[in-house]
Amino acid sequence: MIRIDGVLVSPGEGGVYGERMLQGYRVWDPRRSKLAAMYAKGEGRDLEPWMRILYLGAANGTTVSHVADYAACVYAVEFAPRPMQDLIEVARRRTNVVPIMADATRPAEYAPLVEAVDMVIQDVAQPDQAGIALANLPFLKPDGVYILMLKARSVDVRADPETVIATTVRALEAGGLIVQAATRLEPFHRDHAAIVCTRQ
Ligand code: SAM
Repeated sequence: MIRIDGVLVSPGEGGVYGERMLQGYRVWDPRRSKLAAMYAKGEGRDLEPWMRILYLGAANGTTVSHVADYAACVYAVEFAPRPMQDLIEVARRRTNVVPIMADATRPAEYAPLVEAVDMVIQDVAQPDQAGIALANLPFLKPDGVYILMLKARSVDVRADPETVIATTVRALEAGGLIVQAATRLEPFHRDHAAIVCTRQ
């Protein structure tokens, strides 16, 4: 990952969502991206130029655009029509982004479009985020990394986020994943955690 004076940046063409530029690089703000927040907290696995990535919950492509600046290819799944329009625009300017309009709870629908990947990044803010992760696990290579951005309040708005995180970790482990870290994303994102998992 590239940092300039401690600021996380990515090496692509700017002007995607009004992001700042720094010495010709795009500033990747941890307040606008949970993935950037995870890296700011010193967690996760670095993105590499050879990586193929499945991104679930792409929205309008803010984070996807930075991931695409680092990786070989990003399969970007989003089910809402409005953000999909912006995502298609991101894919027009970044030809290594493959926009897929699909429901992440139904991986069979996009399985024909996606190859085995080195990393899955999930940011879907749904009640059953662990279930979605386990349903998409077959896309991950045996030595790959699964990064789940957990929004605790989407799982249970009344429960203590720590309890939701612990319950989610247990569900992922019961499904065969090895949880390497579960990191709260405060002060950048309230009641969120980045859960980093491997298969072996
Ligand atoms: N990851 C984005 C970023 O950092 O730029 C923000 C993602 S936003 C928190 C969550 C997105 O997930 C929304 O755009 C929503 O439409 C999408 N989403 C929620 N459930 C989904 C599902 N089952 N399948 C596909 N997309 C879903």
